[in-house]
This record gives sequence, structure tokens and C-alpha cells, in this order.
Amino acid sequence: MSTLSLLEIRGLDLDFGTPSGRVHALRNVSLDVPAAQVVGIVGESGSGKSTLAYTVMGLLPENAQVTAGAIVFEGRNLLDMPASVRQSLLGDRLSMIFQDPMTALNPVRSIESQMIDIQHHERRSRSEKRAAAIAMLRRVGIPDPDSRIGGFPHQFSGGMRQRICIAMALLVKPALLIADEPTTALDATLEVQIIHLLKDLQKEIGCAVLFVSHHLGAVAELCDRVAVMYAGEVVEQGTVRDIFHNPRHPYTRALLKCDPGRIRKSTRNLPTIPGEVPSLLGVKQGCIFSQRCPSALDRCSQQSPAEYRIGLEHRARCHLLGEEQKVSA
Ligand code: ATP
Ligand code: SF4
Repeated sequence: MSTLSLLEIRGLDLDFGTPSGRVHALRNVSLDVPAAQVVGIVGESGSGKSTLAYTVMGLLPENAQVTAGAIVFEGRNLLDMPASVRQSLLGDRLSMIFQDPMTALNPVRSIESQMIDIQHHERRSRSEKRAAAIAMLRRVGIPDPDSRIGGFPHQFSGGMRQRICIAMALLVKPALLIADEPTTALDATLEVQIIHLLKDLQKEIGCAVLFVSHHLGAVAELCDRVAVMYAGEVVEQGTVRDIFHNPRHPYTRALLKCDPGRIRKSTRNLPTIPGEVPSLLGVKQGCIFSQRCPSALDRCSQQSPAEYRIGLEHRARCHLLGEEQKVSA
């Protein structure tokens, strides 16, 4: 176990109970988020990115069940904590930004009262909390925050609402911010602005960020490390450089090939990875990517690959890496 990590996820398994059976949405997920670093989670829709983020926050629906593993945050396993202790970490040591800002904002309360309430862990007067809220709104680019703090969420545009959510999430100076697709609902120009804002604030506050995104360009811009998820598993992880310049798992390579930001030739049809993400119902044999993998070996459909270490921080689950290591040994 690394001594520097703020968050250590170890061997996490999670199922959703459904009328058709148990959906294995996370399988043997292990991931580190070091203090003050930004870790991106990428993967196609349905790969389990949001489920992982919500599991760390403890915000899961009733049909979810963690069946194995640990989530160690600041040295304590969140999964062993009484619910009240875990709850007390939210909006204090841990905070979250959602894809839809209205998930976090109460539509019938002013921004002022919501931003003062979020500081309930702080021993400060109401006027000090109000001043801190105004300073943070100014920092995230809300014009005229002294008067606009009295407004309600519907009086702000979508981009401004997301800025307010970032202000609220960071006002408490969390050790870890979880951002679940925070720019997906915004247009490209606003997305760039929000990514730059998050990057600047992360550096100022010194918090770590777990950043879930479909957008590989945003991940490359913001993150220090990346975990690539496929069908509930982390198939490859490493530094941004490892993943974008030296991807070793066939799925990561396929994902990068389909990224619109990396396609040089002009095309009307963006490529997609052939085939579909497999059903997560029932027990799986072999490599989870075997049905779509262009490099699959005979044993891939029978034997699960181990995780191979490629570099200091670079690891991937693929039999091809085992073959290469045998050749070089
Ligand atoms: P997206 O990018 O579309 O948000 P994702 O990578 O975040 O996708 P998740 O939303 O975490 O993926 O979903 C992972 C799997 O878990 C999917 O197969 C999804 O259908 C399933 N799932 C998610 N929530 C539930 C639920 N409440 N009940 C049953 N299955 C669920
Ligand atoms: Fe492809 Fe086999 Fe590697 Fe899976 S283990 S990614 S099927 S080569």
C-alpha cells in the first residue's frame, strides 16, 4: 500500500440487484489518488465510472451492494465507518461536483443561504461565512457577486450554475474533490473555461481531484494520472503521458483511436470501437474485452489476465504483456 495516497481503493466489487439478476458494475477495482493530484477516469458509457465516483462518496442507490474491497481515505476504510461518521466527511474532507448543477443546488433557496450552510463545519460568524462565499464566487468568475449571491439557481445560466457548484464544493477546502462529468452539459468554449478554472483552483487549494469524463482532451489537460475503465474493470492506469503516449492495453488504444480530438483527417463519421460493451449480468470468464479485442489470443476467452507492471506507475491487465515479459526475461 502506498503511504502517499490520500485515497486507496482496493479490490472493490459492487453489484446492483435488478429483476434480471445481479449487475456486476465494479470488479476488482484498485486505484490510488495521491494527495494534491488529479486522477481522471475514462471509458465508454456503462464502464462504471460514475458508479465508482458515487461509491467513494457513499451516495449509492438502495439496490447497490459492495461485496468486497476497501476504500481507504486518509488512512480509514470508509466502508467500515458508521454512516454518521461517513456522512460528516461529506462537504468537509470530501466534496463533489455533478454533471447537472441542479443535483447539488436547491432550487428554492438562495445561493447565499446554501453557501453559508455548506460551511457548517467552520467556526466562523455568519458574516465571515458570507464574505468567504462572495470571495469564492468572485474567484470562480461570477460577476457582481455581492448582489448576485442573493439570487436563486434559476436566475443563473447553466455555465454560471456549474461555477457556483465549483465554488460551493471548494469553499470547504476539501482534501478530495470528486467531479462526475462536470463539463458534459456545457458547450465547448465553456468546457475549456471550466477545466482551466478547476485546474487553477486545484493548485491553489492543493486538493486532490477524481475527475470522471468522456472527454479525453479534458482529461489530458487537467489530470496527472488516468485510469481506463471497461465493463466495470480498471484495465490500464498510469500517468497522463503513459496513457496518451504509450497505451499498452488494446482497449485504451481503441479508445484513443476513436477520440475526435486526435483524428487528423476530416471525416463525417467518427469511428467507434466495433462491438458492444458486454452485459454485466452473471459471472464472466476470461478477459472482459475478449469479444471486441483485435489482438485476442486463444486463452483470452478462458483466462482472466493478471495486472502487469509496465513502468513506475503504469499497469495494465492484458495477456499480451505477460507474453512480452516472458520474451524479455
Ligand atoms: P456513463 O458515462 O454513461 O455515465 P458510466 O461509465 O458512468 O457511464 P455507470 O453509470 O457507472 O457507467 O454504470 C455502470 C453499469 O451499472 C451500467 O451497466 C449501468 O447500467 C449499471 N447501473 C448503474 N446504476 C444502476 C442501478 N441503479 N441499477 C442497476 N444497474 C445500474
Ligand atoms: Fe485482448 Fe487478450 Fe489482452 Fe484481453 S487479454 S485485451 S482479449 S489480448
